[in-house]
Amino acid sequence: MTVSDLKRGAGPRGAAPVVLAATSGTGKTTLAHRLVDDSDRYVFSVSATTRLPRPGERDGVDYHFLTQDEFERRVERGAFAEWARVHDRLYGTPRSELDAASARGEHVVLDIDVQGARQIRASVPGACLIFVLPPSVDIMMARLTGRGTEEPAAIARRLRSALVELQAVPEFDYVVVNDDLEECLEEIRGIVEMGVAPAAPAQDAEAFRNEITRILDEDYDPQVQQQERE
Ligand code: ADP
Ligand code: 5GP
Repeated sequence: MTVSDLKRGAGPRGAAPVVLAATSGTGKTTLAHRLVDDSDRYVFSVSATTRLPRPGERDGVDYHFLTQDEFERRVERGAFAEWARVHDRLYGTPRSELDAASARGEHVVLDIDVQGARQIRASVPGACLIFVLPPSVDIMMARLTGRGTEEPAAIARRLRSALVELQAVPEFDYVVVNDDLEECLEEIRGIVEMGVAPAAPAQDAEAFRNEITRILDEDYDPQVQQQERE
């Protein structure tokens, strides 16, 4: 921490919800797991969802898997701190996840979309909203397609979501770049635990949007249209 950090009011912070947002392929899941695995001061917020479990996912661990009726009943009861429709399924953060972490003095890490982040911003004082950018669109694409398992249509859908998500960057408290994983983790811990703001990144969300639009137009939309014709 520097003298200018202290002047800006940086210093040890109490436990608060941490919202991590990023475009798909940036490394959000990797970062969230490392925060929680490396320290018992961090816990995951287990969301509720109406989507079906994927192979290997466990109820109550990865998500609370609910029927649409049960989800709607909980919305009516006010059981969610935020909820949203994402890719045609419902997702929500149970208030109980935030309350339990707060009672134990733990930082609770929320892996939610930008609609949810906005609701947390409005309803949870002290929440820390961090947007994670990739070092470049090329690197994001390499991480996104690295597994080689995604169909062009699925990649195109994620890229279209990225265009919307990147528009929300100015609404976040902090922006970090996931270039070197360990450095990025240190920046996030500095923000969450000490309120230390990292230097403004050279990366420009608007330039990333233009680049993603070009990739969609030139590479992915033609492939998806071709697939649909076959
Ligand atoms: P997201 O949840 O944002 O879609 P993941 O956490 O699944 O992204 O990461 C996408 C891929 O990028 C994974 O193969 C992961 O191991 C890799 N990755 C994540 N962070 C880094 C990093 N800093 N450097 C290199 N590879 C990374
Ligand atoms: P997936 O179904 O792939 O696990 O998640 C799809 C998307 O839903 C991701 O962008 C994830 O961040 C988001 N998501 C997961 N849980 C929640 C939640 O509780 N609330 C909101 N608003 N989004 C969520």
